[in-house]
Amino acid sequence: MPELPEAETIARTLSPMVAGRRITQVQVLLPRVVHPLSLPLAALCGRRIAKTGRRGKLVLLMLEAEKDMGHAATPCTEQPDMLAVHLRMTGRLFVYPAGQSAGKHTRAIFTLDDGHKLFFDDARTFGLLFLGTEALRQRWPFWRTLGAEPLLLQGTALYAAVHARRAAIKAVLLDQKVLAGVGNIYADESLFRASIDPRRPAASLSQQECRTLLACLHEVLQESIAQCGSSIRDYRDAHGDAGAFQNSFHVYGRGGQPCHSCGCVLERCTVAGRGTVVCPHCQH
Ligand SMILES: [Zn+2]
Repeated sequence: MPELPEAETIARTLSPMVAGRRITQVQVLLPRVVHPLSLPLAALCGRRIAKTGRRGKLVLLMLEAEKDMGHAATPCTEQPDMLAVHLRMTGRLFVYPAGQSAGKHTRAIFTLDDGHKLFFDDARTFGLLFLGTEALRQRWPFWRTLGAEPLLLQGTALYAAVHARRAAIKAVLLDQKVLAGVGNIYADESLFRASIDPRRPAASLSQQECRTLLACLHEVLQESIAQCGSSIRDYRDAHGDAGAFQNSFHVYGRGGQPCHSCGCVLERCTVAGRGTVVCPHCQH
């Protein structure tokens, strides 16, 4: 599943291909990929994409405000300002040249004014598209409750967010209502770097441990973004290229192998229902 660095990479690689382009046609091949609270995607026709962005694991297409549509019948507040794309397990965004036809997993196609087509493909169909205004997005529980952007948190902010929680620290890191965009990979990798056992109750972490954990989380997220994310299973960026951060994993997917730091055999366990790898010597 794409996490924060992968969504960031997709948004960055998509940008030169879609920013400034006007959407001329929209085809929805599987209507249920559109969130029930979303405006119909046909409302994108004629709209220009201003830029791409990211919030948590969501890839965002920000729309330019329409200057000529400000007459009384269509107040500006009713105009959608953003398409949010939740890739979930297998969602992908690709730009293809004109003439590309829908594949087996293509769920929506956005034709751009330069003839290129932006495809939303999703094999397992857990992905979602949401077109709307901020008022409409506030009715979408996932958006409304999305936690802080981890890269924007500083100092003791993580301590403030987790110190009252009895759940395991890893479960709290994975909670999208606490931190937006952290998944299994970056939770395990940041806890290893911070020498913290993922099973410890969040409330047992000291202020200093929370500072260290936040610094380590920043490190792994930024290193991964610099390497275009981690490619496990079928993640690809908008060019179809794989990221390289999987070559830097210390614990994720390495159960039974020696710890890079101390040589002990890494152990597998389950935290918050998720496969977890921990070094019994380095993490406590
Ligand atoms: Zn170790």
